[in-house]
Amino acid sequence: MSLIITSPLRGWATTLDSVPDPVFAKRMMGDGVAIQPLDDTIVAPFDGEVVTLHDAGHAISLRSAEGAEILIHVGLDTVMLKGEGFTPLVAIGDTVSRGDPLIRFDLDAVALAATSLITPVIVTNAETFAISRRTVDCAIGACEALMTLVPVQAETRRRSDDGTVVEQAVTLSLPHGIHARPAARIGETARAFEAEVHLLNGDKRGDARSTVALLALGTGFGDEVVVQARGGDAEAALAAIVALLATDMGEGALAATSITTPVPASAGQVLRAGQIGGVIASPGLAMGPAARLQQAEIAVARDGSGPAGERAALLAARGDVRGQIAKRADSADGSVAAVMHAHLALIDDPELLAGAEKRIAEGRSAGFAWRGAIHDQVDAIRATGNTHLIERIDDLIDIERQLLSTLTNTPLGSSAIPAGAIVVAEDLLPSQLVTLAAAKPAGICLARGGPTSHVAILCAGMGLPALVAVGDALDAVADGAPLLLDAEMGHLTVAPSPADSEAFTARLAKRDARREAARAAARDACQTGDGTRIEIFANIGTVEDALLAAAQGAEGSGLVRSEFLFLDRETAPSEDEQQAAYQGIANALLGKPVIIRLLDIGGDKPAAYIPIAQEENPALGQRGIRVALARPDLLETQLRAILRVEPVGQCKIMIPMVASIDELRQVRALVDRLRGEMGIATPIEVGVMVETPAAAMTADLLAAEADFLSIGTNDLTQYVLAMDRGNPAVAAGVDAMHPAVLRMIGETCRLATARGRWVGVCGGLASDPAALPILIGLGVTELSAVPGFVAEAKQIVRGLTLIEARAHAELALQCKSAAEIRALARAFEETRR
Ligand code: PEP
Ligand code: MG
Repeated sequence: MSLIITSPLRGWATTLDSVPDPVFAKRMMGDGVAIQPLDDTIVAPFDGEVVTLHDAGHAISLRSAEGAEILIHVGLDTVMLKGEGFTPLVAIGDTVSRGDPLIRFDLDAVALAATSLITPVIVTNAETFAISRRTVDCAIGACEALMTLVPVQAETRRRSDDGTVVEQAVTLSLPHGIHARPAARIGETARAFEAEVHLLNGDKRGDARSTVALLALGTGFGDEVVVQARGGDAEAALAAIVALLATDMGEGALAATSITTPVPASAGQVLRAGQIGGVIASPGLAMGPAARLQQAEIAVARDGSGPAGERAALLAARGDVRGQIAKRADSADGSVAAVMHAHLALIDDPELLAGAEKRIAEGRSAGFAWRGAIHDQVDAIRATGNTHLIERIDDLIDIERQLLSTLTNTPLGSSAIPAGAIVVAEDLLPSQLVTLAAAKPAGICLARGGPTSHVAILCAGMGLPALVAVGDALDAVADGAPLLLDAEMGHLTVAPSPADSEAFTARLAKRDARREAARAAARDACQTGDGTRIEIFANIGTVEDALLAAAQGAEGSGLVRSEFLFLDRETAPSEDEQQAAYQGIANALLGKPVIIRLLDIGGDKPAAYIPIAQEENPALGQRGIRVALARPDLLETQLRAILRVEPVGQCKIMIPMVASIDELRQVRALVDRLRGEMGIATPIEVGVMVETPAAAMTADLLAAEADFLSIGTNDLTQYVLAMDRGNPAVAAGVDAMHPAVLRMIGETCRLATARGRWVGVCGGLASDPAALPILIGLGVTELSAVPGFVAEAKQIVRGLTLIEARAHAELALQCKSAAEIRALARAFEETRR
């Protein structure tokens, strides 16, 4: 069972690397997180006992009931203050509850006297607990999830009959399996031992020293891999690799920097003259001239001038590239440094070297051999079919190009980018982005690429707005053309009119001011100016999303997309796997409500192991609850997993694609039967999604039996407008602000609230700032938005009164088109700022 460590104070969470004291930065006392304080009180990070309290009052350690030990060290060199400015509020041996004040300190006095106020929070018994998730590089409030600890696995080591091989199985808690960064860390650890270490995933086996071999294992979150070690120090090597694999290697934190946005239906489409749709890889707004990046083609000769010379040339080029990457790694931090370290491992990867050597021995040139070795691995990774790993191929291509550029003396063509420009390219490699970033571009726009690629993660980490998958329409954008990059709405405007530019500039300025204010008040309660409570929840799919949401001030999750657990795999997840995933999310949200949507498969979300016969109209066929009811085995397993989450009742159940009350009744009956079988007396809330016009128009009937209703505006829009949300030909018309959709939402609220049930929105409209006042005016009292929008949504609500919102919604319902409603919403926004 994992343990959540909550933050002992409000501040900015960062990695220990940024602590200017080697004792902490080098983890001599243990791993953890550091917090730059914004508050003067240290509070208990869990229920437990005070184990030590330094006489100087600056450091305290606690032990949780589970045995985890945490040291909180306020500031650096604060022991010198001999207690000056510190007031301990507890004593050694005291029992404390999460949130109890432990130490108060004089923020100003300590800040002046100490080397630094930065406060490391360290797990001191790493032999018993490992950190599986951590929150870093973001603001955090006291009592918000800071780290998740998992017990180090009990010894389950086996030894082969002849005694030469030791092995142990580990379940991966890496959110995206072993991709480049974790593979590099594993390789680095393995290289410190003499023993040969291999990792096994099913029938695939890879050398732990080889990043590319580890990538080709095709692992994912929750996979069980076997670590095998043979040779002199096999026991020690096994222990080290197992300990590393038991953690998330900081990936939870890295993942949290990237806000993955679903591919909008408009990606790659010309939406109107001069406007092209794209996928948001890193949210934000940017304005500037296009700077086209030309990729130089690097030609290499097939045949070499003899193996000895080619070997020497490869060796020298690898040395040069290693030096260039190391230099970039030294001057970077966070996700950029992590990617550079992954690249360093690739340049010395034994599998790549073996592939190149084989070709050189056959008489090929060094460049040809390197390219061939890289492409062998690219093919192997592509064959895994795992989208996350496939997006890592760009790292291999990056290393290919860097080495070939050095070897052949061909400049890479990263022509000078003017500061403030928007980089326009077919695709971008991580090293190119890192080089380009130094020129301070305003944004990035790529014809290809994916929202979870390293480039996307790097852009999000750098706060650089980016659109990817814009498509061939980007080819027509000339170098120097003025651009407006809207990575909030997901489109690029080429050669905008003066009016467009002016409006965009104003948006940029307001956006900045609004963001700042929202960030500062992210954790404050959320109600309208005239006192109506509006809950702001977040849509999530993973524990990382939940942590990000909690850090943004989310009051719970209004939509856990449980289908993420079911997609991209061969078999359905087991009850235990599901329970662990839901429990992880519930823990990360610290007792706040978690609304788990039942399996929503079918239509645009197929799963190979749930065969659905060929349908003429998949969107009108086996989808959502229809599939689940047709597969009671899957549904029962999922419900049992949800019912097992503790504390019972934190998780609520939500049914997707409801079209008739009978579906609700069947699920409710099943939940009640399972509760009886499992001895659960606590009632479990069961709500419905309003995604079909049928559900909207019978909201009163549903409300009589459902605990809540939540509107899925993405599907409701497609069904109300009869426009396929995935069909680019109608993409421009699929706007949830269409008066027909808003009227349907208004009717749902009217019918359901008359029956005393709350209505929420968990579709995309809840993350659209222009829509929020209208939704609240229509009677919606819960909004579940993308995690990155939570703080802003709260701020928008605080700036409204219910009376104004109602009048505004009334006007919106009278408009004739989505465009008219959007213009009204813009005007409403203008009057408020
Ligand atoms: C919706 O339809 O609005 C919704 C939230 O579900 P999804 O987008 O996952 O279909
Ligand atoms: Mg839906």
